Amino acid sequence: MLAKDYIAMEEEFGAHNYHPLDVVIEKGDGVWVYDVEGKKYLDCLAAYSAVNQGHCHPRIIGAMKKQADQITLTSRAFRNSQLPLLYKQLNEMTGYPKFLPMNSGAEAVETAIKAARKWGYKVKGVEEDKAEIIVCTNNFAGRTVTIVGFSTEAQYKDGFGPFSPGFKVVEYGNAKELEEAITPNTVAFIVEPIQGEGGVVVPPAGYLKSAEETCKKNNVLFITDEIQSGLGRSGKLFAFEYEDVKPDAVIIGKALSGGAYPVSGVLASEEVLGVFNPGDHGSTFGGNPLGASIAIEALKVLDEEKLIENSYELGNYFREQLSAIPSKHVKEIRGKGLFIGVELHNEAKGARRFCEALANRGILCKETHDNVIRFAPPLVIKKEEIDWALGHIKEVLLMD
Ligand SMILES: *Cc1c(COP(=O)(O)O)cnc(C)c1O
Repeated sequence: MLAKDYIAMEEEFGAHNYHPLDVVIEKGDGVWVYDVEGKKYLDCLAAYSAVNQGHCHPRIIGAMKKQADQITLTSRAFRNSQLPLLYKQLNEMTGYPKFLPMNSGAEAVETAIKAARKWGYKVKGVEEDKAEIIVCTNNFAGRTVTIVGFSTEAQYKDGFGPFSPGFKVVEYGNAKELEEAITPNTVAFIVEPIQGEGGVVVPPAGYLKSAEETCKKNNVLFITDEIQSGLGRSGKLFAFEYEDVKPDAVIIGKALSGGAYPVSGVLASEEVLGVFNPGDHGSTFGGNPLGASIAIEALKVLDEEKLIENSYELGNYFREQLSAIPSKHVKEIRGKGLFIGVELHNEAKGARRFCEALANRGILCKETHDNVIRFAPPLVIKKEEIDWALGHIKEVLLMD
């Protein structure tokens, strides 16, 4: 079958909830992917940072195959021999004493919301059904009804109401607005340390620190959504580390899977995750031995292959080199580590045409909103590969 046949089949039988670039990928290896016609591309999206360790990392696929031959799913009705090892691995790498495993990012966000509310009622003493959670403008936390209900993106909500009450939105990056929005019923503030889907938006320096102080002062949980920014993407294990804060809970997903199998969850203190009793919350697949064994290996690869350091160093290099391109289209280059956004002026007529031009030259990236190009390659990328990409990016950004 040719690419156009796959595309026609997908268009005919699939729901049209995405608008993908017309590249039909059949194989991947590290930072490279190959389409059904044998064309090779440098992946600069890394599945929205779920493939930080690179496509089909041999150690991760090895762990997956080994575990697949043993046992894949037990349900949490019984214990399994991999989940405790994942708990231990996460504890050693992050310092958080507790973890609650789920599958998708949205489920992990829902878990954090449930934990925060229950903590509010059982520990803080908020009156039943009065808990409030504060979130930010331009947030992205997944696609469940509760989550899209607190989105500020009209399209994410259009046609999906009614929504859950109990959420308040404050301006991202505005610490004063957060302070003013807190009431005695506020149980948590949930924030992305860098907004990914929002367009790789880095808040003003000092914002997270001051948000943390405000939360502490008001007995409000400070929760960071590190599903995209975490696990090395920003050049640190967690993007919150740039501000020397210690969130009460951290939501992770995406790269915890090594790109191989969905694994997500919430890291937190005993006080926060301690609110859950047997039967309060769960997931059939959450914490399954196949996912756990893959996540353990995905974490070890990040650490042992020094991918976080590589993200920091090559991220600085990539951004410096991008900044040197004299393009009339570029408004701003921002990000941390290999989490990079290039915002274009409105006159550039959208980022999509630049992404399409890059795809023609063998570089895959995706527009974020209308006018941001995100560069977020797997963290195993090498300087020579970035240099090769930069040659093409330069020519594309110098187009008319
Ligand atoms: C991707 C993402 C999610 C949702 O993860 P899914 O696995 O798609 O449900 C939540 N928060 C952030 C910051 C994300 O980038």
